[in-house]
Amino acid sequence: MQISALFNTGKYKDSGIRHTLDMWHGSKSLAKKIHTAGQHKGCEELLDWTRDICNHFWHCCKSADTYDEFIELWRGVLHHVTGEHEWALGVCQHGPLPQDSDQAWMKKGSEAHVRLAEIILDARRLKNVHKYLSFRSTAEFESFHNHMHMYASKRFSFTPPVYAARAMLAGLDCNHHINRPPKKRPDGSLQYRKVFNKKSHKWSLYTIKEDKDYAYVKDLQSAILERRLSTRSVPRQSKKRPDDPR
Ligand SMILES: [Zn+2]
Repeated sequence: MQISALFNTGKYKDSGIRHTLDMWHGSKSLAKKIHTAGQHKGCEELLDWTRDICNHFWHCCKSADTYDEFIELWRGVLHHVTGEHEWALGVCQHGPLPQDSDQAWMKKGSEAHVRLAEIILDARRLKNVHKYLSFRSTAEFESFHNHMHMYASKRFSFTPPVYAARAMLAGLDCNHHINRPPKKRPDGSLQYRKVFNKKSHKWSLYTIKEDKDYAYVKDLQSAILERRLSTRSVPRQSKKRPDDPR
């Protein structure tokens, strides 16, 4: 919020930088709002809609380029949840719905529907919606940070050269293993891992990747050895990098 403020009214307002927000976080905070509303008496049915509404949020952000396009699509969900797929000013974009779905429609004007409308039309959320329309995600960046922590844990302090070396090792590991194929069983079938989400009460499946082979370590070791053999004396003091903060 503080960063947002810097870009909305603060010192970066006219910087020309476009501030955007991460899709996952937007969707997560929406799910949280619906989950909280679903705890109220008579609003339990909202919980069955959380996933669909979050999917709709993703869909709207992905397909809309402007706020107007977004809001037209986004609002439609309030009609859709009541089973109304065509209304005075619009129509749902989805194809034919499955006949055997056990999803019950909401009653228009019911407490759950009113609460949902408050969330969907929440002015504070809508004010920030343009920051989601670029449909960006920091997921890969965050996963790289986690990967970095395996090499340079936040619980220890490192001197700059050691930190730099560890960061490079993390980079080598990441680059070498990033496109690993999925792990297969002897019969050729894919291996999955299932994860239970406590909030949505649903299971998700992930493919497991092949084990890491660290094949580059041998090259690294021989490079170190060659370098050592080619330099006769061992330098007493290593030269500092020009950007070394010390
Ligand atoms: Zn619909």
